[in-house]
Amino acid sequence: MAKKKKYVYFFHSNGADGSAKMKNLLGGKGANLAEMCNLKLPVPAGFTITTEACVFYFENRNKYPAGLKEEIDKNLKRLETVMGKKFGNEKDPLLVSVRSGARASMPGMMDTVLNLGLNDKTIHGLIARTNNERFAYDSYRRFITMFGDVVMEIERSKFEQMLTEMKTANGFQLDTDLGVSHLKDLCEKYKALVLQETGREFPQKPTGQLKMAINAVFGSWNNNRAVEYRKMYGIPDSWGTAVSVQSMVFGNTGNNSGTGVAFTRDPSNGARKFFSEFLINAQGEDVVAGIRTPQSIDEMSKNFPQAYDDLVKIYKKLEKHYRDMLDIEFTVEDGKIYMLQNRVGKRTAHAAIRIAVEMVKEKMIKKEEAVMRIEPAQLDQLLHKMIDPKADVKVLTKGLPASPGAATGKVVFAAEEAQKEAADGKKVILVRLETSPEDIGGMAAAQGILTVHGGMTSHAAVVARGMGKCCVAGAGEIQLDKSKKIFEVHGHTVREGDVITLDGSTGRVILGEVPLVEPTMSDDFETLMRWADKVRRLKVRTNADNPHDAQVARDFGAEGIGLCRTEHMFFEKDRILAVREMILSESVEERKKALEKIMPMQREDFKGIFQAMNGLPVTIRLLDPPLHEFLPQTDEEIEELARVINVDANGLKQKVRSLHEFNPMLGHRGCRLGITFPEVYEMQVQAIMEAACELSKNGVRVIPEIMIPLVGHVNELKITREKAKSVADSIIKRNGKKVKYSIGTMIELPRASLTANQIAEYADFFSFGTNDLTQTTFGLSRDDSSRFLPFYIKKNILEEDPFVAIDMDGVGELVEMGLKRGRKVKKDLKVGICGEHGGEPSSVEFCHKIGMDYVSCSPFRIPIARLAAAQAVLRKGGKPASTA
Ligand code: PEP
Ligand code: MG
Repeated sequence: MAKKKKYVYFFHSNGADGSAKMKNLLGGKGANLAEMCNLKLPVPAGFTITTEACVFYFENRNKYPAGLKEEIDKNLKRLETVMGKKFGNEKDPLLVSVRSGARASMPGMMDTVLNLGLNDKTIHGLIARTNNERFAYDSYRRFITMFGDVVMEIERSKFEQMLTEMKTANGFQLDTDLGVSHLKDLCEKYKALVLQETGREFPQKPTGQLKMAINAVFGSWNNNRAVEYRKMYGIPDSWGTAVSVQSMVFGNTGNNSGTGVAFTRDPSNGARKFFSEFLINAQGEDVVAGIRTPQSIDEMSKNFPQAYDDLVKIYKKLEKHYRDMLDIEFTVEDGKIYMLQNRVGKRTAHAAIRIAVEMVKEKMIKKEEAVMRIEPAQLDQLLHKMIDPKADVKVLTKGLPASPGAATGKVVFAAEEAQKEAADGKKVILVRLETSPEDIGGMAAAQGILTVHGGMTSHAAVVARGMGKCCVAGAGEIQLDKSKKIFEVHGHTVREGDVITLDGSTGRVILGEVPLVEPTMSDDFETLMRWADKVRRLKVRTNADNPHDAQVARDFGAEGIGLCRTEHMFFEKDRILAVREMILSESVEERKKALEKIMPMQREDFKGIFQAMNGLPVTIRLLDPPLHEFLPQTDEEIEELARVINVDANGLKQKVRSLHEFNPMLGHRGCRLGITFPEVYEMQVQAIMEAACELSKNGVRVIPEIMIPLVGHVNELKITREKAKSVADSIIKRNGKKVKYSIGTMIELPRASLTANQIAEYADFFSFGTNDLTQTTFGLSRDDSSRFLPFYIKKNILEEDPFVAIDMDGVGELVEMGLKRGRKVKKDLKVGICGEHGGEPSSVEFCHKIGMDYVSCSPFRIPIARLAAAQAVLRKGGKPASTA
């Protein structure tokens, strides 16, 4: 008989059914609770319902798989036995928490219910056992709020409003100021609210409460914020969440209790320093929600010396065991510590690098592991601008430096407003009392986030850090009036629409716009990059078309230029007129005359770039974009040109109109230009080779690679190559300087991939232009598809934007085919990529796997590509590392 599937795993501080390895089945939370139990740490006992049960539930119209109910009952009994209490018992009730936990950490995105099992009768048992009426009613009011919100779908703000009214009516600031009678009163009011909102009494039967809560936590996998978060971080919808049911320990029994979160090292800068925030007389949610500003770890050590000592021992043991920086949650109940959660902690890129490098030095991990620890895309954060230290700034106030970088924008006070403004292309700073997971869309849309409440582990801080977005949290001096859309601080009033600047690295909130400076790389960063470079096989080049960008890229480690787009040079103010003159010329002679004006400028451009890339290859692409794009647009522009070239303006207008294309991306562009106007390419090759010869005479090592764009038929390359070669050779001859050059092509049309064997006969190298290849493979316009692509992604028609990450099944197939067919003819054909995908980690991995020689990307993505290329080797072409 087939073995019955197990859907529920028990855990207890003497040991557990599961372990940290079972994240896929038990979710991160369930797996790590089990692991902590296996390490014999003080974890309140409980059981975890698997993600498989959740997936079954969704696939079978909210039905449990056979045996699940019985397994839950059995495990609840076991929990009662272990805890020596009975669920629903009126004398000494067992209370539980019901918590979500997916494979990948999704902080705050799904739901949790605490204090479950309380009702109008069991509360008396709790009072009798604890002799603490205030605590019992505090727990009950929290339970009704959470259950009402998560399970009965009553807006949480309605409960919160009642709480605020109760505090205001009694002149209190904090929830801890409320006494027994207030809390008791609040419970009654809450129950009445439930009745009024749902037409049903607040459920009193604990077993019913439990079932409803488990189903609601399953259901929270599909709430809007969880769905949005998954989209943002590429977490598959099919995973589902596990549910952990755990016996309660209480941080809200009074001043001898509390709850906290901690990081085993500083998540902002990576320093090897225990970092914790603690709230006395509070339950878990309070810290993360930023309801009160928490105490530091030093205060905790003074007030709870024993619990603190135990916590230190525990975190050291955990960090050694997991060999990584951890984020832990704990509760102190009447002076005794309990562990509620641990996971690999989210951290800034800066911290990630420092921790990885220091852990190698501490011999905790190997260099290769350090390389694998850094999410390549996270490096983006390091490259963010900072506030110029020399700038004269007007600091309004200071909050906590929750997530580094700097941001300037107009103040908005609501997430929806942030999204609306950002959609209109405006830069905004989202200012909130505190953020909640509902704000995730607005946070993503904002340049930076400022909150009045909350600490370094508040929702705003954690989410912003994950997004690599600048955030200042807990700026408590700010008086925010959401209804008037203003905030006041130190006598200043800042209104909606006013510009402020945030400094997420120091916590400063600054009035107005401030100059920003480029970031500098730390020694740890250089060390890690060196380790990555030792491992990677792929070369990393850059897309750059001016000496400044080339130099920046070189400083970031570029090993050459993979794409120098020459058209950008044509658009410069002093050249565009000559370019237009050239396009609108009626004869070859006129065209040549116009080109002669451009040639010396172009030669100087190339000299600058060759010089910056001394000793490294430079791929220069001949003119590519549709002629259409160079045409004068306005009447004034046409008239100005008519004056310069001394022709009739009306006639010129007609000519411009006649050159208009309906589909320019499929029109007169790429090598088609070089074929119809050979003088253009001749001029460019002349400029390239003259620059090369001249520098080479002066001792610069120049390695020019001439690249022909948009080839679809071998004859296109054959013709342009012959012309280019004859110009290049004649210039070399004239200069008497032997400069080695090569001529290759872009592969950016499906037909080019399909006939790559023919094309390779005439190409010294291939460079895949995956921007155009994606456009032409999908038949998707590069310029217009943003109107509907986001919808496709939202609806899961496409998992990712194919212009961002290479579409492996379609475009990727063509790339691989093109590479193979090309190399079949020329074994040593050099192959690279220069589409935007060349700096996107999963695409870099793909390029490595199929055997390309190099990727080329924008200068600021060079470190990302270097790291991704190293990880591709270490992963041996397998799946990307999962997030912890
Ligand atoms: C490409 O098409 O991928 C490419 C690099 O060229 P461009 O983006 O300039 O068309
Ligand atoms: Mg292209």
